[in-house]
Amino acid sequence: MHPVKPRLQDKVKERPLLGDGAMGTELMLAGLEQGSCGEAWNLTHPDRVLAIQRRYAEAGSDCIITNTFGGSRIMLNRHGHPEKVVEINRAGVEIARAAFGGRDGWVLGDVGPFGGLMEPYGDFTEDEVRRAFTEQAQSLVEAGADAIIIETQTSLEELLLAIVASKEAGAPCVIGSMAYDVTLDGSTFRTMMGIDPERAAAFMAEHGADIVALNCGTGMDMERARQAVERYKRTTGLPVMAQPNAGQPKLVDMKVVYDETPEQMVRGVVPLLESGVDIIGACCGSTPDHSRAFRRVIDRHLARGPRVGSGARGA
Ligand SMILES: [Zn+2]
Repeated sequence: MHPVKPRLQDKVKERPLLGDGAMGTELMLAGLEQGSCGEAWNLTHPDRVLAIQRRYAEAGSDCIITNTFGGSRIMLNRHGHPEKVVEINRAGVEIARAAFGGRDGWVLGDVGPFGGLMEPYGDFTEDEVRRAFTEQAQSLVEAGADAIIIETQTSLEELLLAIVASKEAGAPCVIGSMAYDVTLDGSTFRTMMGIDPERAAAFMAEHGADIVALNCGTGMDMERARQAVERYKRTTGLPVMAQPNAGQPKLVDMKVVYDETPEQMVRGVVPLLESGVDIIGACCGSTPDHSRAFRRVIDRHLARGPRVGSGARGA
C-alpha cells in the first residue's frame, strides 16, 4: 500500500519546505542563448533541463518548478511553436518528476506572465489570455503536476485569469506569486501595477488560491522577502512561499550577473522561518549551491524548533 502524498498546502502544516532556485540563469549557463526559447529545451534538450533540476533535487529541494515559465501559447507563439504547448508542458512535468529520482517531491507547474498587456492598454483580448492560461494549466495538470505556480505576476486581472484557469483545470494546489519592486525612496514595495502585498494576499484568498507567494522583483532581497511574508501573514491564514533573487542584476561583460553568494543569502533564511514562511526558494541568479545552503540551515532550524511538534531540543 502506498501512502497518498499529501497536498502541498497540507504538507506545509507539518514543516516548512525548500523550493528550488533559478532556471533561466541556469539554462543560460547550460548554453541557452539570450532571447531564445528555454521551454523548447524540454523537447530538444531534455537531458540538460533534467541535469539542472536533478542538481536542485540533490541539493535537497522538496519542490521543483517546471521549465514552463513561458509555456503559454501566447509566449510560445513568439518563438514560432504555438502548436507545441501541450508537448512542452507535459515534458516539463515529466522532467521535473524524473529529477526527484523516485523520492517524494512536489512538482510545481510553472505559469509565467503571458508577456503583454490586455485591452484597452494592449493588443490582447481577455479571452485570448484566458484561453492561453487554460490550455497551459490543463496540460500541466494532465501531466501530473502537484500544483500550479502562477509566477512573477504584477496585475490582479492577469493573476485572476490564471487562478481561475488553474482551478478549472483541477490543479490540486494553486500558488499565486507576485513580483514586487522596492519604491524609489526605499520605504516599501509594490508591483509594477501598484499592488501591495496586503491587497494581493486578500485578493488571492478571496479567489481561491491555496498558497500566496512572492518571487523575483527589484530590490527584493531576503530581508524584503521577510517583510512581504509578514505582511502576507497579517492579511491571510494561507501558507506563504518566498523566492527572492540572488541579489541585484549587474551587467558584466554584456552579461547579466547576480552576485549574492549562498553564504550571503543564507543569512536571511532563519529570519524568514521565524516570520512563518512555509516554502523558501529563490529566483534569478540562485543556483543549486544556494539551495544546498538553505537546506542545511532549514534542517538545523527544524531540529531545534518547536514547529516539528515534540518541543524537544536537538542534540
Ligand atoms: Zn527572478
